[in-house]
Amino acid sequence: MNKVFTLNIKDYFQEEKAKIANLIKTANKVPKLAVIQVGDNPASNKYITNKKKDCEEVGIKFEWYHFPKDITTDELIFNIDDIQKEVDAIIVQMPVPKHVNVKVVELAIDPNKDVDGFHPITRFKPCTPLGIVNYLKACNYDFVGKDIAVIGRSDIVGKPMARMLTDLDATVTLCHSKTKNLVAYAGYSDLVICAVGKAKFLDCTGMPPIVDVGINFDENGKMCGDCYNTENAEVTPVPGGVGLLTRLAMLENIVEAAGIF
Ligand code: NAD
Repeated sequence: MNKVFTLNIKDYFQEEKAKIANLIKTANKVPKLAVIQVGDNPASNKYITNKKKDCEEVGIKFEWYHFPKDITTDELIFNIDDIQKEVDAIIVQMPVPKHVNVKVVELAIDPNKDVDGFHPITRFKPCTPLGIVNYLKACNYDFVGKDIAVIGRSDIVGKPMARMLTDLDATVTLCHSKTKNLVAYAGYSDLVICAVGKAKFLDCTGMPPIVDVGINFDENGKMCGDCYNTENAEVTPVPGGVGLLTRLAMLENIVEAAGIF
């Protein structure tokens, strides 16, 4: 079988980032991103630090707004309204504390600046599925008529992934926790996108190529994906795989929001 993941993801990430930096340089405009954090989730601190680094490397101005964990939904929205007037793009880092109404927050974001792609009428696509599709396109993957199994049906990964692949003329099976014969669907497919969030979830023996979206930690605290027995299969790495594609898609959305792309 021909290889699907023909581009090394780390090299692809660096090359695409360099192209974005070049676009910004020649555009004569500095795009501005605001990231809003509520509380002090350690994983969020790390994700925002990565976003800041990526933005600063390509020439995007990065503003990090930190609010206390007991802020009310109303107070948060009041601040979002103020902040988003001054920037091209805005992200509210998830998760927010449980008492904050996420749906209300998502609707408060200007759809033209919603680079996470969560607002119901935004033109932006959520970064993880967008990053995966962009990467597969760069690998010259022909989606038309392919059978693709997407495992996981979350609003930020599985569902938008299935929609985007359907729009690209693939035949998509959206598998989830209640799916019977999941292994058979995956095994039958031309490609699998696995976004479950459970270590050692999918045995890759005899499987078609797999995009491993999962971020988990094994018993030794080492980061791993959802897949195991990957030695004889074609599987995107974790770390150094979908996480980088997601970060790249975010940069592309910001540049587009700033009218440069
Ligand atoms: P989620 O918990 O919202 O959704 C998980 C999905 O998996 C659910 O739809 C559920 O139906 C399905 N699922 C759970 N158990 C299952 C089972 N036994 N069989 C079949 N399906 C099952 O998670 P999410 O936000 O979609 O994220 C999924 C994973 O991807 C997580 O590990 C997350 O950290 C990771 N993730 C990575 C990136 C990245 O940039 N690399 C971005 C987003 C999410």
